[in-house]
This record gives sequence, C-alpha cells and structure tokens, in this order.
Amino acid sequence: MTEPYVIKMPQLSDTMTEGVVVSWEKAVGDKIKRGDIVATVETDKAIMDVEVFRDGYLSGPLAAVDSTVPVGEMLALLVTSADDVKGGDAAPPSAGGEVAESSQSGPGLAAASQQTSAPETAPGPAAASYTITMPQLSDTMTEGVVVSWEKAVGAKIKRGTVVATVETDKAIMDVEVFREGYLSGPLAAVDATVPVGGAMAYLVDSKSQVIDEQAAPHARVALAERPSAAAAETPAVPAASILAVSVSGVTPAPRPQGRGATPYARGVATQRGIDLNTVSGTGPGGVIIAADVQGAQPAGGLAAVAGFPQVDVAGDGRPMSKLEKATSDAMTGSLGMPTFHVTTSIKLGGLIRASKAQGASVTVTIAKACALAMREFPNMNWCYQPQDKLVERSGVDIGMAVAADGGGLVVPVLRACESRELEELNRDWKDLVERARKRRLKPDEYTGSTFQISNMGMFGVSHFDAIATPGIAAILAISADTEQGSPFTITADHRVVNGADVAMYLKSLKTLIEQPQLWMGPSGPAVPEGDWDYDVVVVGGGPGGEDCARDLAGHGMKVALLNDAPLPGGECLWRGCIPSKAWRAAADRIRDRLDDDHLGISSGKASLDWGKLEATRRKVLETRGDMALKTDKGVKIKYIQGFARFVDGHTLFIDTSGNNDEPHIRAQVGDQPRGENVSFGCAVIATGAPPFVPPIPGAIEGLGEGGGVLTSDTVWTLEKLPNKLAVIGGGAIGLEMAQIFQDFGAQVTLLEAQDRILAEVEPEIAKQLTAVLNDDPRLAVHTSVQIEKISGRAGAVSVKYKDAEGKAHTIKVEHVIMGTGKRPVLDGLDLDKAGVASENSAIKVDARCRTNVAHIFAVGDVIGGLMLAHTAAQQGRVAAATILGEDMKYEQDKDCGVIFTRPEAAFVGLSLQQAKAAGVDAAEVKVPMNIDAKAMINNEQHGMIKIVADKKTQRIIGVHLLADHADTLIGEAVMMVSGNMTLEQVGQAIHPHPTQTELFGELARRLSSRLRRSARVRAK
Ligand SMILES: Cc1cc2nc3c(=O)[nH]c(=O)nc-3n(C[C@H](O)[C@H](O)[C@H](O)COP(=O)(O)OP(=O)(O)OC[C@H]3O[C@@H](n4cnc5c(N)ncnc54)[C@H](O)[C@@H]3O)c2cc1C
Repeated sequence: MTEPYVIKMPQLSDTMTEGVVVSWEKAVGDKIKRGDIVATVETDKAIMDVEVFRDGYLSGPLAAVDSTVPVGEMLALLVTSADDVKGGDAAPPSAGGEVAESSQSGPGLAAASQQTSAPETAPGPAAASYTITMPQLSDTMTEGVVVSWEKAVGAKIKRGTVVATVETDKAIMDVEVFREGYLSGPLAAVDATVPVGGAMAYLVDSKSQVIDEQAAPHARVALAERPSAAAAETPAVPAASILAVSVSGVTPAPRPQGRGATPYARGVATQRGIDLNTVSGTGPGGVIIAADVQGAQPAGGLAAVAGFPQVDVAGDGRPMSKLEKATSDAMTGSLGMPTFHVTTSIKLGGLIRASKAQGASVTVTIAKACALAMREFPNMNWCYQPQDKLVERSGVDIGMAVAADGGGLVVPVLRACESRELEELNRDWKDLVERARKRRLKPDEYTGSTFQISNMGMFGVSHFDAIATPGIAAILAISADTEQGSPFTITADHRVVNGADVAMYLKSLKTLIEQPQLWMGPSGPAVPEGDWDYDVVVVGGGPGGEDCARDLAGHGMKVALLNDAPLPGGECLWRGCIPSKAWRAAADRIRDRLDDDHLGISSGKASLDWGKLEATRRKVLETRGDMALKTDKGVKIKYIQGFARFVDGHTLFIDTSGNNDEPHIRAQVGDQPRGENVSFGCAVIATGAPPFVPPIPGAIEGLGEGGGVLTSDTVWTLEKLPNKLAVIGGGAIGLEMAQIFQDFGAQVTLLEAQDRILAEVEPEIAKQLTAVLNDDPRLAVHTSVQIEKISGRAGAVSVKYKDAEGKAHTIKVEHVIMGTGKRPVLDGLDLDKAGVASENSAIKVDARCRTNVAHIFAVGDVIGGLMLAHTAAQQGRVAAATILGEDMKYEQDKDCGVIFTRPEAAFVGLSLQQAKAAGVDAAEVKVPMNIDAKAMINNEQHGMIKIVADKKTQRIIGVHLLADHADTLIGEAVMMVSGNMTLEQVGQAIHPHPTQTELFGELARRLSSRLRRSARVRAK
C-alpha cells in the first residue's frame, strides 16, 4: 500500500491560522478526482472550499464538522485504492447512513432500515435492495406481531407506502417504507412475532426479482420469558410486566363474539385466562389489542393471577364502570411497586399570599413548585418500566385529583409544568377542572401523568399518604395546615428514587413554597408596615448604593443614603474607574503618538507632566463628586456622612466620629463612636470591597507610612512617576496599572500566581493579550510565579519570587502595586445583629439581591461575583425594583466588562466554554482585527472579535473582543446579548462603512451560513 496523501487545512488567506470544518462535500470511500471539492471550511474571512488536486479515495479519520483545525493540520486522507479506505474517526453525520428513519418512534412512522445492531435474521433474497425490518414503534417495544400485510408480494412500493400493520406492546401501528421497489418475500407470516430489527420482507428493484415466499417462523426470543421456577417464587409480579411475554406456541383464545381481536391479544388472553367477550377493544374499529387484555380481569379475578387467595362474598357483584376498573387495575399494579414514604412539614402562608397576588390557584402554584424542584432532582419524574428499564422524562406532566360531580375522582393532567408560565398553567387548569367535574375530559387529558399530587388538606385531613401507581415514580399527598405547616408526604418507588433523593427533593420544595418570591417575583412592595425614620436606608454611596437610592427616591420613597465620605461616588469615582481612566487617557496620548510616524506625521516624543495630569485627575473627581451630591439632594435623598452599623433588624447606628472633608482617601472609622440611630423599613447594603492583600511575607508590613507597597487605594498618593515598578496580580486592576506605568515610561514587571491572566476573560482573548503586553518594550508579564518575599522601603523595594520552572529571582523596584483582588470587609457592619448571613466573606443574596432577611438587600462588590461599577449599579436598580414590588432580576449571563489595556479586552455574556458548561449547544465565530481597513490605517491591528451563538435558537449569547476601542464596540454587543438578538437580525442590520462595527454583521452572517450548511449536511 502506498503512503496515503494527507489532506490538510489549507491557508486560504494571509491571516488565516486555523479553520472550522463546515461540511464534508464527499463521503468516506468516494472516488476523488483532481480539482474535486471535498469539504468547506470557515476561515477568518469567509466560508471557502477545500479542493484536492490528486486522484484517489477519501479515507478517514475525518476531522469532525464544527471542529477547529489549525492550518497545515490533517483534515482527512486520500488513499490510492478503495480497499485502503478507513472509516472516519470523527465522521460527518452524513457518513453514518440512514439513522433518522430508524430512530423515530410513534404511530405511522418509518420502518427501520437494517441496522448493525439488528438481531440476526434469515438471509434475504440476493437481489434485495432493502430489508423491511420490524420497526421499534415505542420505547418499550422489543417485538411486534404481524397483523396484516397491506400490500401484496410483487406490489410496487412508493416512498411512504404503508406495507403492513403490526401490533406492538401498545397498539396496532402502520409499517411505512421510505424507499421505492417491489415487495418481495420471504414475507413474515401474519400472526408471526418478529423481534425489533428482524426482517419482515424485502424490496427488490424489478418485478422479475420478486420472490413469493413466506419466511420461516422467527426463532422466538421474548424479552420477558415466562417466569422461571425461581422467578415464580417472587411474590408480586407487577401487572404491567405481564404483557411482555411471548405468545408463540400458545393456542389463541377464541375470538370474541361480533368483534375482532389481534392474534397477539388472543395469545395473551389464553395465557391470562381471560374471556375476550368481557374485554372492550381500543384498537381500530374496536379491535381488542394486547394492552386491553392486560388491563382485563381474568376469570377468577386479578387476585388469582397475582397469586392472592380469592375471597368469596355473598352476591354476584355488578360489573365495574370503566373508571372503577381503571382505578382497580392501577391499584393492583401498585402492589408490585416497592414504595416508601417520606414526610416534611411545609408552611403554605407565603405561597397562598403570592398565588392570590398573581391570581393563580394554590394547587397550580404548588404543581409549578414541584416541577421547579425537579430541576435538581429529575428522577422524581422518571418511572420504572418492566423489565429493568428507567424512563427518564424531562417534561413534567402533573396529575391532580379532582372530585367529579356525582362522586368519584378524576385526575386531569397539567402538562409541561416545568416550562410553562404560571399564568398559562393556571388558565389550563381552570378549564381542565371545569370539564373534569362534568367528566368531559378526553383520554389524553387524564392519562400519562409523570408525577401526581393529591391534596386532602382542604378536607382537614391531618395526615395521609397516597398510592403510587405504575407509570410514575412518586406521588405527593398534602394534608391540612397546622402551626408547623402542612405535612407533605411523598410515596415513592424505590427502584427509581432513594430515600435521600426524596428527602432532598422535599427540602428544595419546602424552600420554593416557603419563599415563593425566589421564583414568583415580588408580590408587592417589600417595605413592611411601621413607623420608620426612612422607608429605605441605603448604606454606601458608590455606584450600587447611589443608583438604588435614586430609583427609590424617584418612586416617592423616603430614602437616606449613608456614606462614610463627604461626597458620594465610592471607590469607582475616587479610587477606581474614573481616576484610572484619567491616567489611561494620558497613557493613550503617549501611545498614539508612536503611530503618528506611520501616517507620515512627525510630532516628536511625548513627555508627561505628572503634576498637571494629577491636577486634572483630582479636578475631574471633585467636579463629579459635587455634581453627584447635588443630584442626590435634588431628588430628595437624605445624604448622611458617617459609618453605619446594624443595631437590630430595623435600626442602624451612624458613627460620625471618623468624618473628615477629604474625599480622595478611603475613610477610616473613628475610635470614639458617636452619632445617631435611624430606623428603616428596608435596608440596602452597598458598602463595596476594599483591596485585598494576601499574606505574602512583607506585603502587609509594606503598606504603612514610608513602605514601598501600594494598593488601588493608595497608588493615587504617588508624588512622582516611578521608574521601576512591580505589579503583583494579573487581574484587571493589575494589568491596567502595569501598562499605564509602562506607557508613562516606567520599567514594569507583572507577576501572576495563576497560569493565566484575567480569569473572567475568554481564554483565547486573555492569551493573546498576554502576548501583546509582553511585546510592550518596558513590560514583562510572568505567570505561574510564586512570590516569596517583599522587603525594603519606598524607592528601594526587593521582590523575591520563583518562576514557573522554580528558578529563584529577585527584582529591585521603587514600588510594588498589589493588584491581588478585592474582598468585602463585613466586620464593622455587625450583620449578625440584623441576622444577615454571609458566605466566603460576601453577603449572600438571591437574583433579586435580597439577603436571607426579607427586608434587607445587598448589592455591588459586597456580594462578590463580578466586582464592577455597572454591575453594582444594575444590582442597585434590581434591589430598588424589588423593594418597589416590581419584577427584576440580575442576570450575570448578560453582564459585561472592559479591561482598559491597549488593546482593550471586553466581554458580554458567555464564552463558548461557559455556554457548554451550562449545557448550551453553542458555536463561535471569530475574526482577527488585522483584516480590518480601519485597524490597518490606525495601526491598531492586534486582537480579534468572537461571537458565540446558541446553535438551536441562533441567539447571540456572548461577544468577546480584544481590540482598540473595544470599550465602544462592546456597546453594540451588549444590545445583541441583552436583547436576545439572533444571528440573522445582526447579520441583516445595516452597519456603517468604514467602521469596525461592520465586523459584527460579517461575523453574524458567517456563523449563520455555517450553521445553515452544517444543518443541511446533517439532514442529508
Ligand atoms: C483601580 C480600579 C479601577 C477600576 N476600574 C473599573 C472600571 O473601569 N470599570 C468598572 O466597572 N469597575 C472598575 N472598578 C471597580 C469599581 O470601582 C467597583 O466595582 C465599584 O466601585 C463597586 O461599587 P459599590 O457601590 O459596590 O462599592 P463602592 O464603590 O466601593 O462604594 C461603597 C461606598 O460605601 C462606603 N462604605 C463602606 N462601608 C460603609 C459603612 N459601614 N457605612 C457607610 N459607608 C460605608 C465606602 O467608603 C464607599 O464610599 C475599578 C476598581 C479599581 C480599584
């Protein structure tokens, strides 16, 4: 065999480094001629063809559709002879054969094509072009009985022709064929039992090839054999398993008078000793099928079948009504279930109030809560199926008993409780109940529940348990309300769920029912009745507190804003976003001058006047601080300077002992507390998070007067520009500081303990940014380092560290800036006095920013997560909306951020990795900035843009950028993600030329085209 030729990912553009396989245009084994297009790939610019300039046969392993292959790496092989062709490791879906036909189930569906896993069957005629096999028409079907041949041997068959009917374990169904040809024998005989996948008949291409023969009877392999002697000793046989028996060799029971019965039904009737005249048929035209026989009472009673002694009582007894019989059968079936019971008490008060506020029935709200709790414990919704199968269901269809007019219970099924809104469920339930009372439900409205609820609490019943029946794993019994709550008892099938599952499920259900605001939203304003000094007191005057206070005041609430500084603005204004961007602006000017020459302009080397820059920075901050205070006062917020701490659940003490007039420096609490108490209906904690300094030897010691260690709180006190700096920490703050000072002219070493910078940023973007930063002449970024010691004083500091290989280094710098994160400081707040819980140093809140204490909220850096100003502000608005009784949640999956380096890194929504981790089938598309004309003109060619979209909905769920001006470009991306826009919408929007926003449209069209093509290939 000659060496195969490797078909590689071609470099289809100067800038292309990798490509995404969009489609395979040829299948494995196809003969390839010079110039044939074998595949299409998506490059950084467009979707392009992969041509092959050799003859041969396409061979695997084939790169999978959607996979990203670097330029020069293998896509597939080309071999010289058909015998050398190998299957594809990652073959495209089209190469897998006709899977679709055989994977479907349900009435009237396609007959399965011959599958490799099909049981062995007698060889068909040599000329057979296709084998008609017994299709699997239900999940549980293992064999079928041929009921009729609808086409005769020799008949011409067109696509979609029904050739036969077969009886499955559920009903009589059609066997359709989706091929053309002539029906040929050997034909499975009517009444023959054929295993799923076994041959029933054949198709041949011409009439002359037809064989008119009947098949020899199949070797019978029933899924569930008749019970062996040992198995017969097992006491209770689940009723539902009785059906799965072989009837071959059994003499069929006599036909019923005046009606039809399928042969399989007659066989089962013989086995179960059932008189078919007593059975009603549900097959076409009233024909009795096996399922009818299963549900029927054998002569001598079901008890006799189940092995129970029959009790003779006086009287003949009247025949049961259909409903009574169905109930009786289900109850008998339940005797085969190994069940257990678990009870917990749940207080219904909150849920009743919330249901009332939304005009929903409490029953429906409980059903919805049951479905929501199943997200965590989906097996509560599964069921055991004979033999030894578990049916894993995701749709939660809840059956709930309703008393019918004239007596008896009907159990209508409320469908899709997991996905439908409460309002829609409520509408449906109202209609179901009305018709259930009059017994006007259609069969599919009272059958097939996946979970059941029985509520006897309304009758004052103090405790009961319900009976779980085959088809469900659990039933919930709700008893009457007591001081401890209503007993909720679950009876569950131990083959499907265990005791711990049920206990944890009930715990989760208890939380959802007792705290309905977690999922039903606020049921009105959250300010409790009372004579408070303020409706709401907001603690902390940063972006979180200020936005919250302004929204509340705008809605007429009486609001106090407590802040320990003389002016509002918080860290964002005084020590964070705004001062750092003032420095960034100066650094940008210096950097931009470097590109003047490229445009033919000579303006000389830029120089920095530190004093002037600092004066501008301070002026901007003070002006903005004054403006903010005036606005707060203007909207009638009471601004009170002082450090607040909780006295109890409705009182805060404002300590004014540390007050001073200096807004630039973080305020300190005085050591002689003095001040006043204020009472509140609701409180919002927005106290931020100061810089965190880890216990590196010498770091904390270096923070004091004359020490060489600075943080984002103290870096603003620098009186002159340092020449040499170390920055510890490769997060946003560390990177911004490091590059700003390098642009100012300092030599900067950045040391990061993790193996990458910017943990919150998309990995490829972070990797590229690291390379770009390392290209800056005076900046070095080292990852995976271990800092051992910081020593010395301001102006002469030593930093000892070990690099990724464990080699020791010492660098001498003037200052060390700690960019090692931020952490809330909760000690001074006395949260315990108000009962507010925290976890890992952050206050715990739900998506509405509510703490564990219903009238106390927390927003911004103090709750952890993304510690960004706009995040804090949004959370402030969420808390305000919740207090006002509106429905609003903070959605981290739609949040965004910008890292103000050059180029800037920016993100909104999810990365591909995050989407996949969240279970979303997503795809990404990217473009490098260096193909853009504007980027070339401005010499801003670093970076890329990536769009991530959900393949199913084609909605854009994430956008990631590394680009100059990403802070502006991200604005459009934010609208795409927060507005749930689709690729088509963005692709069809008209973007102005020449701007970099055009790339968004281009990327959206490209990904949309790729998804369309790969879907088409998959469907082939
Ligand atoms: C150098 C740097 C650059 C940054 N750049 C950006 C950026 O570009 N973009 C961005 O989005 N974010 C940036 N941030 C982060 C941003 O500053 C914070 O995420 C944001 O300020 C958090 O807002 P907050 O309202 O939660 O808290 P803060 O802004 O910290 O406000 C809290 C306020 O509460 C006061 N306070 C604390 N305790 C009490 C008490 N008990 N009683 C009364 N008052 C109290 C504090 O003094 C402060 O005034 C940056 C941060 C730093 C350090």
